[in-house]
Amino acid sequence: MARYIGSLCKLCRREGFKLYLKGERCYTDKCAIAKRPYAPGQHGKQAKKPTQYGMQLRSKQALKRIYGVLERQFRRYFEEASRKEGNTGENLMRVLETRLDNVVYQMGFAVNRRTARQLVRHGHFLVNGKKVDIPSYRVRPGDVIEVKEKSRSALPIKQGIELAQKANRKLDWIEVDYNAFKGTFLRLPTLDEMDVPVDLQAIIELYSK
Ligand code: SF4
Repeated sequence: MARYIGSLCKLCRREGFKLYLKGERCYTDKCAIAKRPYAPGQHGKQAKKPTQYGMQLRSKQALKRIYGVLERQFRRYFEEASRKEGNTGENLMRVLETRLDNVVYQMGFAVNRRTARQLVRHGHFLVNGKKVDIPSYRVRPGDVIEVKEKSRSALPIKQGIELAQKANRKLDWIEVDYNAFKGTFLRLPTLDEMDVPVDLQAIIELYSK
C-alpha cells in the first residue's frame, strides 16, 4: 500500500500544530513546530487567509495524518460513521480510535501510531489470545491486547512503554498493566473524552458536498 515517506515534521508544519508523528522528539524543544512555526516551502511564511474549502480540507488532511489513514480508507470510515445512528463526528472518531494500531499506541506499546502499525503488522500482538497482524483491525469493548511473550524485549515496545510512563498518558476507556504487557479496551470513548484537534464539522461539510 502507498505510504507517505517524506518528512513527518513537514506534515505538522503544514497543518500548523503538532500531530505527534515521531515520539519523544515531539515532546521536546527540538520539535519543528516549536522551531519553525510556519508552513514548509518557499512561501510558507506568507500567511494567507484560508478559504472555507481550504479550512475543510486542512481539517480532513490533519485527521488522516494523525491516524495514518489514506484517502480511500478515510472516506470509507466517514461513510460508515454517517450510516450509524448519532453524531457523525463522534462516530468517525470512534472508528479511528478503535483501529488496532491506534489502540496499541494509546496503550503505550509504541512511541507513535506509525511504529504501532509496523509492530502490529509484524505480529507482535495478541487480541484475546490470538495473533492479529492487521493494523486496521477493529477493537471492541472488552478486548484484551497483549504483547506476545517473545516480543516483550523488543526495543520499540520498551521505548513506547518508557515514553507513555514518562508522559503519564492515561485514558479512561483503556486500562493497561505494563508488568503483564497487556491492556483492556474497556469501552468506546465519548467525543468529549477524545483529543480532537480538528474541526469535525468541517470534515462533514467537505464530504457532504
Ligand atoms: Fe510533529 Fe513531532 Fe515533528 Fe514536532 S517533532 S513537528 S510534533 S512530528
